[in-house]
Amino acid sequence: MLDYRVKATAAGGSIRAFATRTTHTARAIQSVQQASPVAAAALGRLATAAVLLAADFKTDFRLMVEVDGQGPLGRTVAEIRTGGLVRARAQHPGIDLPLRADGKLAVGQAVGCPGVLRVVREEAGQAPYEGRTPLISGEIGQDLTAYYVQSEQVPSAVALGVLVDRDTTVAAAGGIVVQALPGSDGRTEEIAARFEQLHNLSLRLSLGDTPEDLLRYVLPGPIHWFEREPIQYQCQCSLEHSIAIIESLPKEELESLLLEQGAEVVCHYCNTAYPISAAVLHRATQISEH
Ligand SMILES: [Zn+2]
Repeated sequence: MLDYRVKATAAGGSIRAFATRTTHTARAIQSVQQASPVAAAALGRLATAAVLLAADFKTDFRLMVEVDGQGPLGRTVAEIRTGGLVRARAQHPGIDLPLRADGKLAVGQAVGCPGVLRVVREEAGQAPYEGRTPLISGEIGQDLTAYYVQSEQVPSAVALGVLVDRDTTVAAAGGIVVQALPGSDGRTEEIAARFEQLHNLSLRLSLGDTPEDLLRYVLPGPIHWFEREPIQYQCQCSLEHSIAIIESLPKEELESLLLEQGAEVVCHYCNTAYPISAAVLHRATQISEH
């Protein structure tokens, strides 16, 4: 299994935690988005946030997480669906920024702040849920912590990390969230202290640590483990979906496209271009007449 997420509980079930390795997913996103190092780090962190936020769905679902802080990266979105299928996009994935004074990629500057972190959860048989919290820094990890506390009302510690190599490609990515449930008093300070040491999470992953190793490091024992769940990059766009978008256009727009003898729908996630023939456009104008 390349990328996966694992869940665990500790302290008699009063602490629950999720950890994920998203290295291959973040690398695929960087490749299809042709993302610069700082954009790849932001996209990788947001995709990891989506994987962690989607840890408790029971049936078919879709979860979207978005950050927009008016920074040079623009609106940035990550999405995960049933089966652990992840994709992500940024408005301006090619942007380049100087490293921060501490030598790290300037993700917070790229995303910008103030702004909003928005989460949309859709699950089969349930009403969709949307939560938003103000961005704390645009670094995404801190913003996700604030989201869990403010929007989901669960005290949580979060670490997200993407390591970008000197050759500008993603070397490792992953994240961890630990949540204090009622009855966990007294253990949360201990966990917070261990979290302080976890700032090099992506380096640990690049050196071979697994998500389970990360959880062992921060959780008090004994730990109860749940099954690993696979995570992978996959865009869900298709020609059928592109035709449906075309068919929903107003008639005037369809007619102007017909004058151009055809159209093209480009997926903003994976940049696949779907050619739409004049015959399909013609049929769409007839549908919109009825
Ligand atoms: Zn696509």
